[in-house]
Amino acid sequence: MDCIFCKIARGEVPCDKVLETEGVLAFRDINPQAPTHVLVIPKKHIRGVHEAAPGDGLEELLLAAAEVARQEGIEKGGYRLVINTGQQGGQTVDHLHVHVLGGRSMAWPPG
Ligand code: 5GP
Ligand code: ZN
Repeated sequence: MDCIFCKIARGEVPCDKVLETEGVLAFRDINPQAPTHVLVIPKKHIRGVHEAAPGDGLEELLLAAAEVARQEGIEKGGYRLVINTGQQGGQTVDHLHVHVLGGRSMAWPPG
């Protein structure tokens, strides 16, 4: 399958890895939008939360995002988890991913 995040998960495309568990990989975003910008993905190809089912590891995904925040030292100051979903949600890679953003103050509402 021609999915960039599947290729990263399989090790066919390099990434700056931050954390790995059995079902999840976390790596730095190639185009960071904050001092810390890490993407957390399930190794299995799932397009979005709407396609996920019990047993697909959503709990593992969120817990990994929290662990990334701890590892990156942004837990105390606060951070933002983002899951862009679908066209109007701003999703550009159709493989579920959680953005972990931190190291600066975040604006609300998002653009
Ligand atoms: P989305 O817009 O789908 O929520 O987020 C996709 C993110 O993936 C973007 O922030 C983009 O910079 C990042 N991205 C796209 N291609 C690559 C890549 O090949 N490597 C890495 N590390 N990040 C990527
Ligand atoms: Zn994929």
